[in-house]
Amino acid sequence: MAKIRVTVWNEYRHERDEEKIAEVYPEGIHAQIAKAIGTEDFEVRTATLDEPEHGLTDEVLDNTDVLIWWGHMAHWEVSDEIAEKVKQKVYMGMGLICLHSAHYSKVFQKVVGTTGNLLWGMNKQEIVWNINPIHPIAKGIPTHFKLEAEEIYAEPFQIPEPDELVFMGWFETGYVFRSGCCWRRGYGKVFYFQPGHEEFPVYYNENVIQIIKNAIHWAAPADTGYVKQWGAPCIGGDFVPDEELEFFRK
Ligand code: ZN
Repeated sequence: MAKIRVTVWNEYRHERDEEKIAEVYPEGIHAQIAKAIGTEDFEVRTATLDEPEHGLTDEVLDNTDVLIWWGHMAHWEVSDEIAEKVKQKVYMGMGLICLHSAHYSKVFQKVVGTTGNLLWGMNKQEIVWNINPIHPIAKGIPTHFKLEAEEIYAEPFQIPEPDELVFMGWFETGYVFRSGCCWRRGYGKVFYFQPGHEEFPVYYNENVIQIIKNAIHWAAPADTGYVKQWGAPCIGGDFVPDEELEFFRK
């Protein structure tokens, strides 16, 4: 089976601007995620905000099955044009995985159709509960696992009702959060996963990485042959010629 082509996109600012963060992710969050998911099942590349076109040229997007997105302090520096391109790609079948503060990114807002507003608070211990153990993204994940420290993200999370909910976060002060949510948009699948605050080594956690790997498999476009055979739908939808209607009148 062909490897899934994954692009890990990162804003890559905290790691360059703050020594404390650089200690956790010396080569950047994107590099750590790329390394941790490995190359056994995936062909992995990375892209960052300050590259030309944010590293997301047409060539890169055309060759991406699943795009992973981490952004925080510079959401508004992402060009509308690139965010729109990502949205169109998702509608055509590209998978999108939005991590942590990507709930507030242009791509998440555009693709899912929401502000992504939530409550947030000081760092606390989190328990991630696996509430949908038969879901493919929960494969190999225990009933729950602990993260020593994570930024509080709490309900109400202003999102459209997820098509599937896989994880719930509980913080030691009692706040709860829908921390693993799935949507389908167009032909594409979207997964939002809350853990991943830049101050903590969350992307070294084996459960977190397993969830990201599972999510890549889940979000990868299904190769039904449809697009290859019939072509991608054009903007405004496809026109049905009269001859085809004749078939139904017989
Ligand atoms: Zn954070």
